[in-house]
Amino acid sequence: MKSTLAVYPGTFDPFTNGHLDILERASRIFPRMIVAVVANAEKSPLFTVEERIQIIRDATRGMKGVRVDAFDCLLVDYVSEQGGSVVIRGLRAISDFEFEFQMALMNRRLADGIETVFLMPHESYTYLSSRLVKEVSLLGGTVKGLVSPMVERMLRDRYRQRKPGKK
Ligand code: ADP
Repeated sequence: MKSTLAVYPGTFDPFTNGHLDILERASRIFPRMIVAVVANAEKSPLFTVEERIQIIRDATRGMKGVRVDAFDCLLVDYVSEQGGSVVIRGLRAISDFEFEFQMALMNRRLADGIETVFLMPHESYTYLSSRLVKEVSLLGGTVKGLVSPMVERMLRDRYRQRKPGKK
């Protein structure tokens, strides 16, 4: 019998060490995983889908059983299409709970056979978000240790031209 396939979906703009922490924990439970980049996000992302995939491939190099992909349809349709039955999401704090809870129940309503599994990251990542990483980088602060060296470099390049001066 094939092992359960789990999908870890997200915007991942960009992928952080918090995302990686969740992925590593999930892949200890589910030997087959897909990290799936949401390609139709309403928000306008800093990195293209291709860049985000490239970043995640680099960060997960050497992790057995982990595949990276993108999708632009309903999450539950994508998971079924791939033959998966589990969705992985990360919970950092109470503030994540309400949105995640709504989404998990909506997904269950759409596809009862797919379960959402929540994992908590190491406490040192509970304050970490892609949004904060971008804000700190934009203002010239360091994000070392919070993202991979590749992301650090890409953020620096992206924001180099846009560095704000003093008002
Ligand atoms: P989305 O737009 O789908 O929320 P994100 O890339 O922001 O995409 O997050 C994807 C998933 O990873 C979500 O479940 C989010 O709660 C989780 N996540 C984001 N940052 C962290 C972190 N630092 N630690 C644990 N989970 C996280």
